[in-house]
Amino acid sequence: MRTWSAPHIPALQTTGPVPSIFDSRLNDIVQLPEDRASASLYVCGITPYDATHMGHAATYVAFDLLNRAWLDAGYDVSFVQNVTDVDDPLLERAAQTGVEWEQLAEDQTDLFRADMEALNVIPPEHYIGATESVDWIVPWVERMIDDGYAYRAEGYVDDSGTSHPDGDVYFSVRAAADSDHEPARWFLGYVSHYSERDMAPLFAERGGDPERPGKKDPFDALLWRAHREGEPAWDGASLGRGRPGWHIECTVIAERFLGMPYTVQGGGNDLRFPHHEMGAGHAYAMTGERMADHYVHTGMVGLDGKKMSKSKGNLVLVSTLRHDGVEPAAIRLAIVSNHYRSDWSWTDSLLSDSQARLEAWRRAMSVEATDSHTEVSDAVIDAVRAALARDLDAPEAVRAIDAWAAKAEAGQPVGDRREVARVVEARLGIAL
Ligand code: ZN
Repeated sequence: MRTWSAPHIPALQTTGPVPSIFDSRLNDIVQLPEDRASASLYVCGITPYDATHMGHAATYVAFDLLNRAWLDAGYDVSFVQNVTDVDDPLLERAAQTGVEWEQLAEDQTDLFRADMEALNVIPPEHYIGATESVDWIVPWVERMIDDGYAYRAEGYVDDSGTSHPDGDVYFSVRAAADSDHEPARWFLGYVSHYSERDMAPLFAERGGDPERPGKKDPFDALLWRAHREGEPAWDGASLGRGRPGWHIECTVIAERFLGMPYTVQGGGNDLRFPHHEMGAGHAYAMTGERMADHYVHTGMVGLDGKKMSKSKGNLVLVSTLRHDGVEPAAIRLAIVSNHYRSDWSWTDSLLSDSQARLEAWRRAMSVEATDSHTEVSDAVIDAVRAALARDLDAPEAVRAIDAWAAKAEAGQPVGDRREVARVVEARLGIAL
């Protein structure tokens, strides 16, 4: 699938430090081995039924900071992202609004690309739709059935009297947990560390179907949904016509384009369970490998202290802000002034503060250039890189530039301001 245009990344005079990052599975900050020359990143993409809200934007900007940290440290980075362009929420929204689901997915994916481009997010090398990956998913699911990690469930009649056909395929969490691949292992809770009691409501909220009759375990996750009248379907070979489940989509795309294990699996905190948990289980069952070396998750973004959600109708959309004339650099600066792991709120004052900060930084860049006192610019450049290398501490990097800009405002020497601007653009993704 088409990606979006790559932002300009200025070349810097020196190489940055190797970043450390908080692995939420290990519950610890980890350093990538210094001798590694390459890193691979998979960040779960959107289900394109609604435009990019601030929570999505914050997640993609956070992993963009990681990508830029690796690039600055001299790594070759392989970056892959999916777009879940067929799934229940998309089909439901299409039905509610009377739009063809393909059109809805295409329009919202276009808007997402435009938002990412405006926010200077480096595009993935491979941007893959679920609809493009069906032919790769089918043989995986067939093999999972053959190997005993998946099973076909019988049809049933739901509470509303609708009958569902035979042939939905489920991943057996017990079969995978009882398997003895070495040296990798997987169990329910491997990624999230949630107790089954914590998992139960989350599974139901986040697309799972714990009550579905015919499952061996309430947590078994859908791999293949047999065709229902009025739903899109693809040829599933021995599976019959149908469409893939959500978790298997990411596992198969990641395996195909990155191999396993890859360096970082990323996404919002709400993907820890069941999405990343199940994805890791699928990968383990099929390859005997762990899916990723590290799991990195971003905090949730609210609006004025309240949870941002589609059902509450209080989504802050990047596209709306852009159409209102807000400069994308100010949106990105507002995002990076919060730590990626914290939960934070979008507010009017956050935006106005960020706009004022951007102006202050630009004023600092416009002062008379001198070739002397490069120790001042070297110090701020080092501080920015050091902060970002410590678990992407962008707020600390922002404070370092604030302090440097204040010196400029006070008429003190600022050193090589062009190199400072290049670092701000290369590392924070903000052009001054
Ligand atoms: Zn995913």
